[in-house]
Amino acid sequence: MAWRDAMCGALRADDAGRRVTVAGWTDTRRDHGGLVFVDLRDGAGKVQLVINPERAQAAAEIAHEIRNEFVLQATGEVVARAPELVNPNLPTGEIEVQVDELKILSRSTPLPFQLDEENVDETLRLRYRWLDLRRERLQRNIRLRGQMVGIMRRLMEAAGFVDIQTPVLWKPTPEGARDFLVPARLQPAHFYALPQSPQIAKQLLVIAGFERYYQVAVCFRDEDLRADRVQEITQLDVEMAFPDVEELLGLTEQLVQAIWRECLGVELETPFPRMSWDEADRRYGSDKPDIRYELEIEDATEATRGSELGVFASAEAVRFLRAPRTFSRAELAQLEEFAKEWGAKGLAYLVYDESGEIRSPIAKFLSEETLAALGGKPGETLLFAADVWPLTSRVLGALRIHLAEALGLIDENTFEWLWITDFPMFEWSEGEQRWTAQHHPFTRPNPEWEERFDQDPANARAFAYDLIGNGNELAGGSFRIHEPDIQARVFEFLGIGAEEQRAKFGFLLDALAMGAPPHGGIAWGVDRTMMVLASESNLRDTIAFPKNQAGVDPMTGAPSDADPAHLKELGIRLTGPQPE
Ligand code: ASP
Repeated sequence: MAWRDAMCGALRADDAGRRVTVAGWTDTRRDHGGLVFVDLRDGAGKVQLVINPERAQAAAEIAHEIRNEFVLQATGEVVARAPELVNPNLPTGEIEVQVDELKILSRSTPLPFQLDEENVDETLRLRYRWLDLRRERLQRNIRLRGQMVGIMRRLMEAAGFVDIQTPVLWKPTPEGARDFLVPARLQPAHFYALPQSPQIAKQLLVIAGFERYYQVAVCFRDEDLRADRVQEITQLDVEMAFPDVEELLGLTEQLVQAIWRECLGVELETPFPRMSWDEADRRYGSDKPDIRYELEIEDATEATRGSELGVFASAEAVRFLRAPRTFSRAELAQLEEFAKEWGAKGLAYLVYDESGEIRSPIAKFLSEETLAALGGKPGETLLFAADVWPLTSRVLGALRIHLAEALGLIDENTFEWLWITDFPMFEWSEGEQRWTAQHHPFTRPNPEWEERFDQDPANARAFAYDLIGNGNELAGGSFRIHEPDIQARVFEFLGIGAEEQRAKFGFLLDALAMGAPPHGGIAWGVDRTMMVLASESNLRDTIAFPKNQAGVDPMTGAPSDADPAHLKELGIRLTGPQPE
């Protein structure tokens, strides 16, 4: 027996007169005493059922029992609605189904929330995720995600890339996050790590002769969670032998273009602009600048060098943002608070009132010449950070975004993409008092740095690129080191001595020593891209079964405690706080 012979959401005016059987969920039910109206919902959309006791007595009796989310099967006739009853908001709004037979296929207990309810607590939504997922927005997001991944696969296959699965139980991968460990029962006191990315595996695959690899891979990073961060990340992971940077970036652009065209009907222009990391840092104080708005950082170091203001005269860098409006004292105090949260000692300002007058405690210390060089105009405010260069970047980069949001400078209807290239190879870690890899330790130096990256690590630049969309880092990759001696030197420089190199990466060094072709690749964050594609501010709303901010799945209760017998088998004794 077929459950249905038509889809609710697919019925149209020219189906009038047809007898159909439909099945789906009760979206709403309106009982008008005699007549009962039900909006029945299936994967294609909704249609209105009309149950009239004069037409179908038995169906009408059943209809009184129906509650939201009951699953029904209805047989009846598609009838055109009178013109004044047409619902222009519904694609099926020109017709309705006059029901002859009605069956309740499945009932529902009272719902913890209604599907059209706004602002439902997120924990409650996650607890009843199967209901939450029935909402229109989540249905759209999850389907959009499927469509996007489908396009990625199609284009990768067409470009000759082979889909290869890599292990989930493996060795730690140094991507900079904490590893998830899995105890190995068969090897007491040993652990697998869940991969933070298939980085090493994909390099081994190209070394193994799979010149073009891709995979839609889940990567595990034990990080503290934020709105744009989850522990299980999905990536389109790509690697190629004998890489050509133009081909790789071009292919990525083609993918973005196809996704935006097919999913949103938006035509993006390629090639995307490219900007070096240094330029992005100088103009935007960020390695993932949002270029939907201008508000660029300006440099006043030279102009204020001789100023009587001590901090300006002596700071390594004096830089400022030119906000296109004036602020009250209270607003300026708030902006200063914000700057301090990002590490600034203070936030100097010059407010140019509409009358042309300058409101500022520092104006008297600045010469006419300096003020002329700054070029403030009536109706503007200059906001200054004076400190070491990286700190001015950090503070003004964050303030730039904050101001753009607060002043409504962002055009939410545009998509602006760009590549950031030539990243610093290393980053100084204050906490660890050592250099760490900016990308990962397999990233190759730019050709001019191959010989001397370790002599001037602060300035060494890497053959690495990130794709930024609307201020989000959506993809990132690099060309890799394929020479075992350079790889060993990078490890050495990062403080990984010969013995540790053998223990952790011996297999990679061995592979590099047995005919490793030049190679490079990229990994593309599916979750984050979905956020931009679906204009969602919460990453979790693009994932079917996400965990909450504490890494807990309120639906299943994961993570949960383990059976003591199981722990014993694994040789694990708990010493920390015990679960209740
Ligand atoms: N493995 C890197 C990451 O996951 C990407 C890459 O270099 O291909 O960020």
